[in-house]
Amino acid sequence: SNYVVGLTGGIGSGKTAASDFLASLGIDIVDADVVAREVVEPGSPCLTAIAEHFGERVIDAQGQLNRRALRDIVFNDNRAKEWLNQLLHPAIRARLLAQLQQADSPYVVLVAPLLLENQLQRYCNRVLVIDVPEALQLERTMQRDNSEQQQVEAIMASQLTREQRLQRADDIVHNDADLTHLQQQLTALDKRYRQLAKGS
Ligand code: ATP
Repeated sequence: SNYVVGLTGGIGSGKTAASDFLASLGIDIVDADVVAREVVEPGSPCLTAIAEHFGERVIDAQGQLNRRALRDIVFNDNRAKEWLNQLLHPAIRARLLAQLQQADSPYVVLVAPLLLENQLQRYCNRVLVIDVPEALQLERTMQRDNSEQQQVEAIMASQLTREQRLQRADDIVHNDADLTHLQQQLTALDKRYRQLAKGS
């Protein structure tokens, strides 16, 4: 089916927990982070172009992209960053769209942390936001990644605010209790999406 539900939420909001559950109900998942890694796999046109542009210093001994080296190069160089975005964004978009088209479950979920920031909602019939209070978001992310509060807060500051995200939502699930609570809400939405996809 080509009925697309965009699933988003801030760092540590529970996108993986939610998409794993929807996958267990038989729904195909397309993950923007996975696709972003796939387009720069060894042998890909994008990785070849990056190596030609920045030199072999951005390729590691295994032939993989050295993300750290690339990040260091573009960090203070807007022209380099712009060049990279113009290469990667169309490639990622094309691959995302191909995977969405290939999906054959009753509807398909596009998971993307920056769905709204990167305007990917234009490919979605519906936007589902996972909402979580900031304090809980911070706590869960720090625990999962073993990271510092400052580090997580910096990432949160680079994303839309909770209010901005909620304003753009068609549907909201609240992930402020246990996983069963999350799954109950998703079970109801799954039924709804199957109906909507049938009528579309
Ligand atoms: P990211 O944007 O960083 O990829 P995410 O949105 O995919 O994050 P998850 O990894 O699913 O978020 O959840 C963040 C952490 O919180 C994980 O360790 C997860 O196990 C935990 N978590 C998610 N939902 C719940 C819940 N309802 N109760 C307890 N822990 C939860």
